[in-house]
Amino acid sequence: MSSDDSVGFLTIDVEEWFHILDDPAVPGFEAWVGLESRLQRNMELLLVLLDEHKVSATMFWLGWVAEKHPDLVRRCAECGHEIASHGYAHVLAYEAGREKFRKDIRRGKKIIEDITGKEVLGFRAAGFGTTTDTSWLFEEIWDAGFVYDSSVFPAKRGHGGIADFRIEPHEINTVKGVLLEIPQSVVEICGRRVSFFGGGYLRLAPITLIKWGINKLHNSSLPLVVYVHPREVDPQHPRLPLKLHRRFKSYVNLSSTVPKLHWLCENYKFQLMKDYVKERFKI
Ligand SMILES: [Zn+2]
Repeated sequence: MSSDDSVGFLTIDVEEWFHILDDPAVPGFEAWVGLESRLQRNMELLLVLLDEHKVSATMFWLGWVAEKHPDLVRRCAECGHEIASHGYAHVLAYEAGREKFRKDIRRGKKIIEDITGKEVLGFRAAGFGTTTDTSWLFEEIWDAGFVYDSSVFPAKRGHGGIADFRIEPHEINTVKGVLLEIPQSVVEICGRRVSFFGGGYLRLAPITLIKWGINKLHNSSLPLVVYVHPREVDPQHPRLPLKLHRRFKSYVNLSSTVPKLHWLCENYKFQLMKDYVKERFKI
């Protein structure tokens, strides 16, 4: 890809259907092992879809999930997708605190590197869980050995989110070294930042609105960052008894994900985040 104006990244946060945040009905870590796994089926579907369009995705694997599906991790890597890290146990950084977060991200990175035998360059925090109170987070991510981060949601949202964060990819100078941040894509409407490019936002927004948003991004030389979860291509997955607003965000319009992914793959170009970062950092 020669110019910045059509850069896009299709990212997948690889986790199970029960890895939802911020609700008392979400099962705790100890309970996960006894729950049904839908990951294999959902990732198979995504691999077929991506292969059909010859699109390579950046996959942020949760360490706990990777540990249980090492062959699938290797197969995704063999298919040309990037294996990045989503931490180990899906902890929210601002709840976990610095020490627990440090241990979690190092454990997640090591598991994936042991499985693939390759260095992991990229990280995304659970729930885009960065806030203005987690300024230590970037230092920890760099110190764990990551080269880039894609944890910032630069708009107001239920959890995480830094409303006044820079919206373009940029270098963050931590005390220890330089980390490249690739924030989630947002566009401004009437002075308010919104995103139609991932999760419930992508499922709810009509294609005309998403298309308008992508044009706006590209006209501003901003990359398109799309994010999906395997559970979003699986409308039949079990439901947790979440609070009403969480239930809406988590389960609305699940059947729209696959057609929207086909549409995105047909109409836009995507590259791996690690290739973009390597080119930018000349590494
Ligand atoms: Zn997640």
